[in-house]
Amino acid sequence: MTGPVESDHRATLAVWKFASCDGCQLSLLDCEDELLTLAGAVRIAHFTEMSRATVSGPYDVSLVEGSITTPADVRRIKEVRNSSHRLVTIGACATAGGIQGLRNFAASGEYAGTVYAHPEYIDSLETSTPISAHVEVDFELHGCPIDRHQLLEVLTASLVGRRPVIAGHSVCQECKGRGTVCLLVSGNTACLGPVTRTGCGALCPAVGRGCFGCFGPADTANTSSLAARLHDDGMAPVDVSRLFRTFNAGAPAFLEESVAQGGSVPVPRGGTGATAAGQEHR
Ligand code: SF4
Ligand code: SF4
Repeated sequence: MTGPVESDHRATLAVWKFASCDGCQLSLLDCEDELLTLAGAVRIAHFTEMSRATVSGPYDVSLVEGSITTPADVRRIKEVRNSSHRLVTIGACATAGGIQGLRNFAASGEYAGTVYAHPEYIDSLETSTPISAHVEVDFELHGCPIDRHQLLEVLTASLVGRRPVIAGHSVCQECKGRGTVCLLVSGNTACLGPVTRTGCGALCPAVGRGCFGCFGPADTANTSSLAARLHDDGMAPVDVSRLFRTFNAGAPAFLEESVAQGGSVPVPRGGTGATAAGQEHR
């Protein structure tokens, strides 16, 4: 039997949601076998996806999912930062602005008028920006969604006060490791594996599909070299640009290459309190 709340000396963990699909939060629940061990080591103090009970901060570790897309988000992320000893962002939305960051390349107000009968009720910013554009972030974990094993490593490291050991090499290297025949070389299939961060174990190429970059740019992504290769295979620059514009369109290396291939630049904004995706993103 556990003791009273006051004598609970476990570290506290909080999980926060901003503009997102919840997939990254679910990766924590996906931990299954490790979840009970984790619950023994940390006190899950705030996680509205999972629990009705919430304990007020400060929190030892906060996991933040989602991007900043509303004025209320801008205020709330500052409160989250102030109540968190360590703040870790999880997923493409939180680290690069997410798929919703595609609005940064257009006048998003036009979309609202197309989609909603009463767009005047929509109170959102012109941009979707990563958490790091608004507050200091202690560590960014990439993926759409994130990998649960990497999440456990980040949590473990955060709890003992060391830097997480998360590989930054490419999906391409994983293909070589598991003996998957290269799609670019053998199948003339567009694949972002050479420039995408590992984390999935090269899942898509193993089933004959090109990687579309859901873990974002690898540490030393040579995007221009890959673009040249795709041109040699007959891909038009506009299609290469689109290949880089999915979940991680706001990640600097992908953003720069998509613009180099002729894609539109982020629309300059004024007075939103937010920056275009990628500009201040680490
Ligand atoms: S990064 Fe992907 S899986 Fe995670 S919340 Fe965003 S859209 Fe969902
Ligand atoms: S798209 Fe790329 S990074 Fe995403 S699961 Fe497939 S191979 Fe992995």
